[in-house]
Amino acid sequence: MRPQEIITIKRDGGELLREQIGVFVDGVCDGSWADYQISAMVMAMFTRGLSDVERDELTRAMLYSGEVMDLSDIALPKVDKHSTGGVGDKTSLVIAPLLAACGVAVPMISGRGLGHTGGTLDKLESIPGYNVDLTTEEFHRIVKTCGFAMSGQTADIAPADKKLYALRDATATVPYIPLIVASIMSKKLAEGLDALVLDVKTGSGAFMQNYEDSVKLAEALVQTGNNAGVKTQAIVTDMQQPLGRYVGNAVEVYECVKILRGETVKGSEDTLDLSVELTARLLVSAGIATDLERAHELANAKIQNGEALEKFRENCRLQGSGASVCDEPESILTNDLIEHRIVAKTGGFVTEADARSIGEAVVIIGGGRTRAEDTVDHSVGYSCEAKIGDEVRTGDVLGVLYCRRPADADRVSEKLESAYKINAEPPIRSELVKMAI
Ligand code: URA
Repeated sequence: MRPQEIITIKRDGGELLREQIGVFVDGVCDGSWADYQISAMVMAMFTRGLSDVERDELTRAMLYSGEVMDLSDIALPKVDKHSTGGVGDKTSLVIAPLLAACGVAVPMISGRGLGHTGGTLDKLESIPGYNVDLTTEEFHRIVKTCGFAMSGQTADIAPADKKLYALRDATATVPYIPLIVASIMSKKLAEGLDALVLDVKTGSGAFMQNYEDSVKLAEALVQTGNNAGVKTQAIVTDMQQPLGRYVGNAVEVYECVKILRGETVKGSEDTLDLSVELTARLLVSAGIATDLERAHELANAKIQNGEALEKFRENCRLQGSGASVCDEPESILTNDLIEHRIVAKTGGFVTEADARSIGEAVVIIGGGRTRAEDTVDHSVGYSCEAKIGDEVRTGDVLGVLYCRRPADADRVSEKLESAYKINAEPPIRSELVKMAI
């Protein structure tokens, strides 16, 4: 079938068959469909819609456009967590070693930050020498040796998604749930997992800001994962304010290593709680724990007895950095940065600490990228000294910006100041985990 015949079916609101979706995805990968034909198809999908069956067929075709990892020589259950991205969203760095310490294998393929949200690979690269560009063989060997590896996506994993995402981005067709599901799940399913948990963020700092849309995305991701034979669950979690105390790269690694050392700093409690919650859900799915309560106990014990930190230490050695970050997490922080304080102009309760504004401020001072090709300054960042619900007095420090130049602080201080709202009445408590599927 010619491209225009397949496009016509979707343009006119018809349902595409598995073979037709297969021809489309093959055409994306082998160049036989021109960019304008792919774009027209994606726009037709966006405007006419995809059924659940079409969504899952698209996911499947995109998944098999590349390699699916074969980790069958590793006897442990294989699990992973995926987050839809947020500000200060650093749980991967705690979850991967924690899960490995609990006796499951974690082949974690991660991404880089773009826009106001950070990326695990950028965070890891703030550890001098840590290699996130592993070959498939190195990745496999490290998962087998220490229980987890964290690396970037190779060209072999769901290559159709790379091309499709670039064209969706250029044609304003990213925000459509079935296309998002196919994009995310084609990459995650390529890890050859037994179980997957999705952390779907909701709120100003999230990709999906609206709660109802976040729930719909979570439901669709879970359906597609389970239909593909992977035990999949999702939680929808708050991204109205940044997660944890720090936003940036080195500072977030510092925060996670402190958690793994059992020395959780003030403001990081939510990072610890969410990491344990996501870990516990996977432990139940993988059959390591019989219920969530026992899984929480096991995960907490593995932090307290140092085994999770030991897993991270082993992984750092295997991925090239050496383990000094585990003994001296401060060693990756830069001491000569300018500190610019954001202070409360009035007393009361913090009712807003807008995640998006804080994330954007960190990008503006160099801690993230606006375009994929931008370089990142791993040292700069932000410390959330006050979080939603905290009571503050006039002049109290709400946050500290760590930047290179006074001009950087000038560029973002207004944005940061207006990220906060302080009211006489305390806010209604917002749950970190809003729902679970
Ligand atoms: N993240 C992805 O990987 N793909 C999308 O389409 C949207 C977010």
